[in-house]
Amino acid sequence: MGSIAAAPAAKLFIIYTGGTIGMVFDETAGTLVPMDFREIKYHIPEIARRGYDFDMHAFHPPIDSSDMSPEIWIELARIIYSRYEEYDGFIILHGSDTMAFTASALSFMFENLNKPVILTGAQLPIGEIRTDAKENIITSMEIAAAKKDNKAMVPEVCIYFDYFLFRGNRTKKVNTEKFEAFNSFNYPPLAEAGIDIRYRSRYILPHSGKPFSINTRLNCDLGVLKMFPGISRAAVEAVLNTPKLKAVILETFGNGNTLTAPWFISCLKEAVHRGIILLDRTQCDGGSVELGRYATGVQLQEIGVVSGRDITFEAAVTKLMVLLGQELPTEKVKKLLATSLKGELTEK
Ligand code: ASP
Repeated sequence: MGSIAAAPAAKLFIIYTGGTIGMVFDETAGTLVPMDFREIKYHIPEIARRGYDFDMHAFHPPIDSSDMSPEIWIELARIIYSRYEEYDGFIILHGSDTMAFTASALSFMFENLNKPVILTGAQLPIGEIRTDAKENIITSMEIAAAKKDNKAMVPEVCIYFDYFLFRGNRTKKVNTEKFEAFNSFNYPPLAEAGIDIRYRSRYILPHSGKPFSINTRLNCDLGVLKMFPGISRAAVEAVLNTPKLKAVILETFGNGNTLTAPWFISCLKEAVHRGIILLDRTQCDGGSVELGRYATGVQLQEIGVVSGRDITFEAAVTKLMVLLGQELPTEKVKKLLATSLKGELTEK
């Protein structure tokens, strides 16, 4: 057991992208407006008391995270890459709506990340009296600064929200109203903040010790086919015949099951034949796809559908974008989909 400490001299870099967290009430306009992030110390004077040395980059204009895009993920990855050596940890202030997508995307875009990248946001704007922004920002800074044996305590892309630190690519927004906006159904929290911040070291990814690099090629030619009883052939064909399509996430029932109607199976077979990758992901939040369990799953396995096991939707989308961006042979992409690359899948 090494010593855990928030190094007093930690140098942090904060990127403010937008979202509810940065809103303050404008007396003149009578509405919420994005705050000027240079005023962060005015809104959270506690930061000055902690004595962190930090720099900032703010998006102009700040965006609602519904407008997040792969282009902005690339920009974020480049900002972090260019400052990687200079800072001990990074904090991304982000709207909660697509935070799990951004955290997942960055986890797959980064190779050999050995420093913390903590995404956080808030359900109530920083300018509101009952805001959750302060706690979320202050604790995220503490986590980003934490070291053990002089190495970053959490060398991962994470989401910190409402006292829990989650692995980013395991996380999902689950509530629009409660302060507990996020959950990680298939992987335990990496830390919990109470009187102390309790890190669960055994769940945190190890340091690779290798040089940090970024993947900045993403390919968005993918589709999603969500199963529901009564889905029509026209709806299935519309997705599978999308121009330029390279992969489809099948959002399936239970352990990965779909309907067994011959027309449906032959639509899937024909898509696989055209080289389209089909990734089976369960609509359930907890648990895993198990294609060998029911006859319907066995049929999917036989036609070459890949099991997404316990991957989140956000991780499935962004992992596919990053893998497709590498222009690897289809069989290699399928193999990597079945492999946990950044802790996104539970090892069998
Ligand atoms: N719509 C906002 C966003 O995601 C919600 C939030 O910040 O929590 O940008």
